[in-house]
Amino acid sequence: MKYDYLIVGSGLYGAVCAHELTKRGFRCLVVEKRSHVGGNVYTEEIEGINVHKYGAHIFHTSDKKIWDYINGFAEFNNYINSPVARYRNELYNLPFNMNTFTKLWPDVFTPEDAKRRIDEEKKKGFCEKPSNLKEQAISLIGETIYKKLIEGYTEKQWGKKCEELPAFIIKRLPVRFTFDNNYFNDRYQGIPIGGYTPIIEKMLEGAEVRTDCDYFDCKEELDALAERIIYTGPIDRYFNFAFGALEYRSVRFETEILDMESYQGNAVVNYTEAAVPYTRIIEHKHFEFGTQKKTVISREYSSEWVLGEEPYYPVNDAKNTLLYEKYKTLADAEKRVVFGGRLGAYKYYDMHVVIAEALKTVAALTNEK
Ligand code: FAD
Ligand code: UDP
Repeated sequence: MKYDYLIVGSGLYGAVCAHELTKRGFRCLVVEKRSHVGGNVYTEEIEGINVHKYGAHIFHTSDKKIWDYINGFAEFNNYINSPVARYRNELYNLPFNMNTFTKLWPDVFTPEDAKRRIDEEKKKGFCEKPSNLKEQAISLIGETIYKKLIEGYTEKQWGKKCEELPAFIIKRLPVRFTFDNNYFNDRYQGIPIGGYTPIIEKMLEGAEVRTDCDYFDCKEELDALAERIIYTGPIDRYFNFAFGALEYRSVRFETEILDMESYQGNAVVNYTEAAVPYTRIIEHKHFEFGTQKKTVISREYSSEWVLGEEPYYPVNDAKNTLLYEKYKTLADAEKRVVFGGRLGAYKYYDMHVVIAEALKTVAALTNEK
């Protein structure tokens, strides 16, 4: 055999596996169906600005080991994600905090005022055991915020009514009674200076990489080249959709170069009303405090996923979880193949979780504790 490992997919999961295995002396071949490496964290320089081609990626974690690990590949800046929400002609800070509350209700000045006001609002639709996203949101934050900042955005994002969506989607949004616009609660956060692509390129050093190479176009030939396989593509595709296709939400990006220094003054502006067709606009230069003369923006349109398009967000509802379990049983029986990453595990993993999972996989493959 020419290689010890064939790695299908050069996203963060495949790249970490390739790096760790190469470091231990194993020969790796990485195949990637896109024309570039990096999967969804791929960034491309346009007008001197690192553009996040597959959606904004902010690295955040509370795990010091993972933070130190990723900092071994790049220096990170001190970017803190503080999105702004636009509802009609009103602008609010996110996540929900004292800046949001004082702007919504001019008679609110202190955390006590805000709590009293939200408690009154919650009474109208409070549920002990919220059974859907609408009930969860109103029980958490009350009707006004639900109407202005949640309902429209969520229905655009998921293509379903809030009453039909699971409550857990909204649970992770922080609610704070301080003037703190930091979207994440994690200890460490930032954007890699120079973008994510150089990180992936560094991780892949020493491994052989073939881009524009779809594994399924020459599966037999590729399988014959390596002892073991790490597969990071969609798990249902591997088994030829034997039980039917798992569902995803897709995103369409409309990217534009504008001849102005700043379009919106912030990296992320969410459009929370239903009438605006896109969910948010990303202005990439603000991730790196850019001072270029031009700017690049991307409008994000959430869309129905159809087979053959890029899968973005797994839909982890009851129906798809059951379907995934069936594929997982088949996957466990494939002794030569490890299924990993966001598509292989059909889980909405953030980047820090993907790294942790890849490190665990390599430790298990190499019998390390
Ligand atoms: P992927 O990046 O999807 O890589 C899989 C690779 O496999 C792809 O390159 C694909 O082309 C390749 N592949 C698939 N099938 C084949 C085949 N048959 N042959 C060859 N190659 C194949 N995480 C954060 O921590 N912070 C964020 O702010 C954040 N924002 C996000 C925004 C969006 C819009 C999305 C979609 C995700 C976001 N994430 C974020 C999650 C992050 O993108 C993932 O954690 C990470 O990219 C997953 O890496 P992966 O290697 O598992 O998957
Ligand atoms: N959300 C919302 N309004 C916003 C931002 C988020 O209602 O302005 C809701 C929406 O339901 C979304 C969920 O919060 O699906 C999680 O948002 P987050 O930004 O964490 O989602 P991500 O894009 O990272 O998956």
